[in-house]
Amino acid sequence: MEPSVYLFLMRRKAGILPSLEDLLFYTIAEGQEKIPAHKFTTALKSTGLRTGDPRLKECMEMLKVTVKTTSDGALDRHLFKKCVQSNIVLLTQAFRKKFVIPDFQPFCAHIDELYDNAKNLSGGQVADYIPQLARFSPDLWAVALCTVDGQRHTVGDTKVPFCLQSCVKPLKYAIAVHDHGTEYVHRFIGKEPSGLRFNKLFLNEDDKPHNPMVNAGAIVCTSLIKQGASNAEKFDYVMNFMNKLAGNEYVGFSNATFQSERESGDRNFAIGYYLKEKKCFPEGTDMTSILDFYFQLCSIEVTCESASVMAATLANGGFCPITGERVLSPEAVRNTLSLMHSCGMYDFSGQFAFHVGLPAKSGVAGGILLVVPNVMGIMCWSPPLDKLGNSVRGIQFCTDLVSLCNFHNYDNLRHFAKKLDPRREGGDQRVKSVINLLFAAYTGDVSALRRFALSSMDMEQRDYDSRTALHVAAAEGHAEVVRFLLEACKVNPVPKDRWGNTPMDEAVHFGHHDVVTILKDYHNKYNPSDSNSSKDKQSAEKNLDGML
Ligand code: GLU
Repeated sequence: MEPSVYLFLMRRKAGILPSLEDLLFYTIAEGQEKIPAHKFTTALKSTGLRTGDPRLKECMEMLKVTVKTTSDGALDRHLFKKCVQSNIVLLTQAFRKKFVIPDFQPFCAHIDELYDNAKNLSGGQVADYIPQLARFSPDLWAVALCTVDGQRHTVGDTKVPFCLQSCVKPLKYAIAVHDHGTEYVHRFIGKEPSGLRFNKLFLNEDDKPHNPMVNAGAIVCTSLIKQGASNAEKFDYVMNFMNKLAGNEYVGFSNATFQSERESGDRNFAIGYYLKEKKCFPEGTDMTSILDFYFQLCSIEVTCESASVMAATLANGGFCPITGERVLSPEAVRNTLSLMHSCGMYDFSGQFAFHVGLPAKSGVAGGILLVVPNVMGIMCWSPPLDKLGNSVRGIQFCTDLVSLCNFHNYDNLRHFAKKLDPRREGGDQRVKSVINLLFAAYTGDVSALRRFALSSMDMEQRDYDSRTALHVAAAEGHAEVVRFLLEACKVNPVPKDRWGNTPMDEAVHFGHHDVVTILKDYHNKYNPSDSNSSKDKQSAEKNLDGML
């Protein structure tokens, strides 16, 4: 153990430092003697954690019992400690904003806006090749998300069960790779987009299905799971995986859909016979029973909520965020995300990879399983489909999400400041950016300042003492920096720090005559009273082009 950590723990043990439980109490109590239980649960929910989160089981059970012993339903420091101590690490992380989306509530407000925007869309057709799908109202619309830290948000019809249909394809492929490894699975199935309809009777040059996201590939993939076992055993095996992927949230089965899929599955039977003829299955495979199993897997039911946890498990490298259980190998998850990225959205896959840049898989029931790797899983669900078979509202939501947040695989996370980065904490980020700005001004690093200006940093930010970059540069005598801040960035030339000093005062005080001249010339050129006007702000952008 690091000596400093050891010392810290010893001091805490000796009672010199407050315990984590006490710190948490003070954070939530906001100066009060007691915390009402509902205040605690409300504060908890604002971090994105749910009271039903399996990781908070002990805390919630203790809370229920403890509240009954109080007259007013409120917890003093002692009772609070009793309730939170079993899950203190997770709770501390949550309240210290250590989760992947630190400012969760503002992020959820954005999600709700995107949801509302897509809700207004009326186009598309609900699939009607089987009655079980045709019955769904075209108005149903739901979005649920779960981050890799188990923060949850849902909006709309997120508790209505629907069938995974083709959204199961990446999941069963992941199971096959988890069980057998990449090399074995890809002896039977390719890795290329097919450029053809998902249910085309067609194989690649090696007489293999193009990839596991089209029907031919998914049928072969189905044959690789638990070879030699009965269909009943196979079904249990996959359901067990589904439950684990979903953190034991809702996973069901629609027998009616299964029967209908089988009765109307001529195309899949045709594909099955073709695959059999071309010897695409492992030896000893009973093709018709594989087709039965294939239809069963299409008929597995989820809700938007439970499927968001499945997507989050993929986002989290195969660990389910809300149970912490390892469900899939990292290799299986990486392969799956790669193929979702290139082949997951039917004949829209290329466009989706281009515009949205995230792995996703859609299904005929209207689901889109979307993964933001290392950040979150999302399930969008709305039955009306566009001509290519993707949910109209789902596509709109995914596109809007990536226009708003820098989630596209190729969005630059460091320099492109025009999009929202929900992974960063607003407050912390601001402090860091002031420090960087003032440090660059202090060291006379004009090229760093150019980069900051280019990435839309506020060049007039002030530190704790209300000092700006211009104050610091003037005090240090960095003439080039002063010129850049004035001419290119058009910062206010006369900001006052907490002692009432302007940059001119600093330059005079420290005897930087060249800086004094620059400031004077600038003052004469522009009337300082309107140096902050919007006209000047606009010309600042033009000047930046020249000076950067
Ligand atoms: N049950 C459908 C089939 O195999 C799945 C369609 C889909 O979701 O793409 O044809």
